[in-house]
Amino acid sequence: MDFALTDDQKALAAAAADFARAELAEHAADWDARSHFPVDVIRRAGEAGFLGIYTPEAQGGLGLSRLEASLIFEQLAQGCIATTAYLTIHNMVTWMVASWGDDALRERYVPAMIAGEALGSYCLTEPGAGSDAASLKTRAVREGDEYVISGSKMFISGAGATDVLVVMARTGAPDSGAGGVSAILVPADAAGVEVGKKEEKMGWKSQPTCLISFDGVRVPVTNRLGAEGEGFKFAMKGLDGGRLNIASCRWGPPSRR
Ligand SMILES: Cc1cc2nc3c(=O)[nH]c(=O)nc-3n(C[C@H](O)[C@H](O)[C@H](O)COP(=O)(O)OP(=O)(O)OC[C@H]3O[C@@H](n4cnc5c(N)ncnc54)[C@H](O)[C@@H]3O)c2cc1C
Repeated sequence: MDFALTDDQKALAAAAADFARAELAEHAADWDARSHFPVDVIRRAGEAGFLGIYTPEAQGGLGLSRLEASLIFEQLAQGCIATTAYLTIHNMVTWMVASWGDDALRERYVPAMIAGEALGSYCLTEPGAGSDAASLKTRAVREGDEYVISGSKMFISGAGATDVLVVMARTGAPDSGAGGVSAILVPADAAGVEVGKKEEKMGWKSQPTCLISFDGVRVPVTNRLGAEGEGFKFAMKGLDGGRLNIASCRWGPPSRR
């Protein structure tokens, strides 16, 4: 075999394994039983660098590769697969804001997200748009310098406990497909944001999964990531890495393989 991990990559995996043993493993079953979302431990993951794993160094992240992210998530998931799955989503959202937010948006949110002071949710799926995500119906109508957002998002990981929602919403015509979608950062405490009850799940209960509805939610146009109509492309780029991340969590607790 002509492939081997570098010493740095081995050290990263070892640091993640240490964190999993010290902070996750012995609590995972209890968190699941109590449906407890361990925000304090997630913040400590931030102190260890695990909340900005592939966010560029210029934005305060570790700027690591997808391979290195997988090595870390594999090890963290050995401690608690559900918490690690949420960590992957937070990393994805942080990377999206860092990559396509304007300077002011980055400065406002990215350092807090890397530190775990602000947690993120990725809001793509809708009650009528799951696998066929490009058919999403949540609308963002421009009024002056603001978007007015209405619609609902389903199965949102972390919902109710997160602060930063990256919402994929239609800014184009109703039949504009993937090209009519924009990605917009919505503070979770904005007026008109409502979080529904927790979904019943088999396992994975240490991260809440809920519907979020948006009823005339107003945000500045400057909260948009990139240009109008680029949101679906960003959402898919996020998932390109997100799928590797989730697959890496598959190696979680050996007893559950
Ligand atoms: C625990 C959990 C956490 C989640 N977290 C998030 C999150 O944070 N953010 C977010 O946006 N979403 C999240 N999701 C949503 C997830 O991405 C969707 O469940 C997924 O995209 C599938 O959509 P759906 O559930 O509507 O299934 P559907 O699209 O209704 O699909 C149901 C089944 O039909 C199959 N199918 C669908 N269309 C076709 C077709 N054309 N041909 C053949 N087969 C087809 C699918 O493969 C699947 O097996 C989460 C889901 C879960 C369960």
